Amino acid sequence: MNRTLVQLLLVLVAGLPMLALAQPATWDDHSRRMELSPFVEYWPESSGPASLDSVRELPDSQWQRNGKDSVSLGYGDDVYWFRVQIENQGQATDPLLLEIGYPVLDHIEVYLIDDGKMTERHFLGDKKPFYDRLIYHRNFLVPLSLPTDGNVSVYLRIDTTSSMQVPLTLWDQDAYYVAEQSRSMFEGIYFGIVLVMILYNLFVYMAVGERSFLYYVGYISAMPLFLASLHGVSFQYLWPEATRWNDQAIIVFLNLVVFFGGAFSIRFINVTRRNHPILNRLTASLMIVAGLMAAAGILVPYRLMILPTILVAFLGCTTMLVLSIVRWIKKDPAARYYALAWVFMLFGGIVLALSKFTMLPRNLLTENATQVGSAIGVILLSLALADRLNKEKKCAFEAQQRLLQEERKARMAQEESLRVQQEANTLLEQRVHERTRDLESLNEQLRELSSTDALTGLKNRGHFDRVFSSAVVKAYRFGQPLSLLLLDIDHFKTFNDTYGHLVGDDCLQMVADCIHRYVTRPEDLAARYGGEEFVVLLPDTPEEGALRVAEKIRQEIEKTGFRISDEVLHLTVSIGVCSNCPNEADATKTIFCWADGALYEAKERGRNQVVASKLPPVQEVAPAGT
Ligand code: GH3
Ligand code: MG
Ligand code: MG
Repeated sequence: MNRTLVQLLLVLVAGLPMLALAQPATWDDHSRRMELSPFVEYWPESSGPASLDSVRELPDSQWQRNGKDSVSLGYGDDVYWFRVQIENQGQATDPLLLEIGYPVLDHIEVYLIDDGKMTERHFLGDKKPFYDRLIYHRNFLVPLSLPTDGNVSVYLRIDTTSSMQVPLTLWDQDAYYVAEQSRSMFEGIYFGIVLVMILYNLFVYMAVGERSFLYYVGYISAMPLFLASLHGVSFQYLWPEATRWNDQAIIVFLNLVVFFGGAFSIRFINVTRRNHPILNRLTASLMIVAGLMAAAGILVPYRLMILPTILVAFLGCTTMLVLSIVRWIKKDPAARYYALAWVFMLFGGIVLALSKFTMLPRNLLTENATQVGSAIGVILLSLALADRLNKEKKCAFEAQQRLLQEERKARMAQEESLRVQQEANTLLEQRVHERTRDLESLNEQLRELSSTDALTGLKNRGHFDRVFSSAVVKAYRFGQPLSLLLLDIDHFKTFNDTYGHLVGDDCLQMVADCIHRYVTRPEDLAARYGGEEFVVLLPDTPEEGALRVAEKIRQEIEKTGFRISDEVLHLTVSIGVCSNCPNEADATKTIFCWADGALYEAKERGRNQVVASKLPPVQEVAPAGT
């Protein structure tokens, strides 16, 4: 009796506020959806496994009322029993749907107690293959047939390594499918956007080879995979049989989000070792930890990994927010987009958290805030990447233009120097040309001088010898007659001795003029042979013509008077003529000897006369080449 009183007092003192809420959840024909969390009671199965019957027999005092709008008991090793009483005041007989909206719970046992008897029993949880479920949905759905105007109790036993969150919702089936359509559409839009972004950025990476895009693709692939794993979507569609991996995937992808997010941030907003040595090292270390944990997440059990992973994710979010703010302050243009994207993503997370803690109403927008935030973030970052690429392209283009301009300048300078050099070369060539011409003219003059006799102006002996040789060769070659006149002034020694050498020189000039007057053909040549002796070479001239020329010269000299004071003096010359067709190319000596012989004979005969050489007869000369 005393015991009963004490128990009653205890209940009154400690449990009075709870008892005030100890009502069943009431469902009627107008109900569409009902959050069961405020009506839930729970009991931790701390002292070994308990059966349904033993749990049902527990006194009410053992049960703790949740009383809040969500059931969230955090991480721990305890297995929990939950119970909720539902009173149906409606008349409809259609089964309702009980939704357990946290798809990562490991083992769930659901019992329906109607009128003190267990009428339904279901085993759920993500440790069972997806297709073992009653209804193929990412959340756990149990159809409940409530008796009209009656009470039922629902017992749940939940054993999980994840956070002990049990959002329990009772749905009218039609209302559920209507809500589900909107949710599916939201998810479709989100995954569609992300998939397009992944492909787009992957193609951009393949096209331009900029590594930011690759990290970004890693980041925006890991992010939706993490969310899809958390929301049970990937279990439903990607690995419905892989029950172990389903838990590990959350660890792996969340760590990969931090890893790729860090890699992307460092590169995208230039958190280099030179710009920010401490932040760079911090982010790099966080990346290494996240990378190692992602690898470890494949093997190490979920319950050991989840808390460090949440810590890494939290640190990652904080670090990246700090990076974006620091870079924004440092006026990095890319950081604005980046920070904005992060604000959206974090905002999504905060809205979700607030809705989980019932500070915001639970609706389509708040439920999908993470997806909405991350989709907007993904788009913003993609825009930022494109913007940066554009700026870099512009910078590269400008640099190229500058380079081209420099090159053009250099080329112009080179062309200018080439032009100056060419001008100098032309000038030099011109000078060389002029000098060469001057030299040639000087040479010509020199040659002329060297072949001219200074006193008489006729050609000298050297020149005569050269011309005579080639004339003989030519005459021999063509079989032409060649004539040579050898002139000698008569008694010139006496003349010199009488009138002096200067007068003698004048006389020599007068004789030369007379000779020159009758040597008219271009090929003819008159030369002073030496002293008072002259030669006249007449190519292609037979003896007859030669004798005529010689006679004219002789007469001309004889009749030309030379005045000295009052006295007029007359000079005479003796001329020896040799005309011949040479029978050898080297007949110069012979011809000269014959002419000399004729001259000697003229002197012998009394001077002042022309004598032709007798030998040899012309017909005896053999023509060239025979
Ligand atoms: P011949 O009738 O036999 O020819 O008698 P010649 O006195 O003319 O002959 P010779 O050979 O003995 O004399 C030639 C002279 O010509 C000798 C020299 O006084 C003179 N003579 C030679 N060269 C020159 C010269 O360049 N100027 C002058 N004024 N006289 C010269
Ligand atoms: Mg002489
Ligand atoms: Mg003489």
